[in-house]
Amino acid sequence: MAQTLTATMRAVAVTPKKPGSARQVELPIPAVSRETALMRVLEVGIDGTDSEINNGLYGEAPPGSDFLVIGHEALSIVEAVGEGVEGFKPGDLVVSTVRRPDDCPNCGAGESDMCLFGNYTERGIKGAHGYMGEYYSEAPAFMIKIPPPLRAFAVLLEPLSIVEKAVYQAWKIQERMLWAPKRAVVLGAGSIGILATILLRLRGLEVHVYAKSSPEALQGRIINGLGATYRSVVDHPVVGIKDELDQIDFMLEATGSSSVAFQAMAQMGTNGVLCLTGVSAGSRSIEIPADVINLEMVLGNRVTFGSVNANRRYFEMGVQHFQQAERQWPGIFERLITRRVPFADFTSALDRRPEDIKTLLTIANA
Ligand code: BGC
Ligand code: ZN
Repeated sequence: MAQTLTATMRAVAVTPKKPGSARQVELPIPAVSRETALMRVLEVGIDGTDSEINNGLYGEAPPGSDFLVIGHEALSIVEAVGEGVEGFKPGDLVVSTVRRPDDCPNCGAGESDMCLFGNYTERGIKGAHGYMGEYYSEAPAFMIKIPPPLRAFAVLLEPLSIVEKAVYQAWKIQERMLWAPKRAVVLGAGSIGILATILLRLRGLEVHVYAKSSPEALQGRIINGLGATYRSVVDHPVVGIKDELDQIDFMLEATGSSSVAFQAMAQMGTNGVLCLTGVSAGSRSIEIPADVINLEMVLGNRVTFGSVNANRRYFEMGVQHFQQAERQWPGIFERLITRRVPFADFTSALDRRPEDIKTLLTIANA
């Protein structure tokens, strides 16, 4: 009797809610259907969410599975396409979006990042396997084509899309009045903080970044190179920012620390807007100066809002801004890639070190 052999691939999976459970698993290579493409993964970026998942604080396995393949920032190459797939061919470079819609009105309108019902899935995070394996299959609706000149840093498109959304949303919110923003503060100098600095500088704002590292560290040097200022919170604490700078029009919180988010609320200028992007999956409580924050928010018409995920509109904006920023600061995005780790060392890639900006797990060389 003929035997069918299923080809297998390596992937990295966790048992959600179990700290330190990341391990290599062997899975069948996904089959290509009429409507999907098979993607060969080249490299995967690691972020705070991956670490939180591996620390057992976050993440959910797909229905019926007791493990979750992680990874949601991937640059891949199309290996094969089903007959029904238009607009993509083998050899195309692709970054896929993260969220998959449910049946709510927002998802139906293409804005699953604004999902109302909460039954969305997120590849590599919530209820759907991710990209940290040799292959995955995908429908064209979720695939973003990458121009080949962007190959070296296109893996940063997913984190960039997060910042694209945050900034776009802030400017949309501020259509509530006459607003001519001049000064921005970014809290945190990880990849989100630096990518935000890039977008804000492209918009012509004066940008001040506050973060943990010393000003001599790479983060500070990159930020200065963008024409922004960098201050270490060791000698410039967040609670002193508004005394140090005048009117702050826009603030972006990208440290992932919920206490910093509340400190930031009291630092914004009149009519200012603060965007929170950190996913704090723990259960920490803090005491806050409630009267002061409330009074400032009301008397200054201030807004604080949260922003998560990004739909394909923001990925497409990111592709444009990649090109614009590279013209202004050649090589800027590659400088953010501070560590490339071979597949076998995935546990070291998941460890976040203070000097890391973006760590990549290399899956294939091409
Ligand atoms: C991802 C988003 C996701 C969020 C919450 C982030 O790390 O980049 O796509 O929506 O985590 O799960
Ligand atoms: Zn929805």
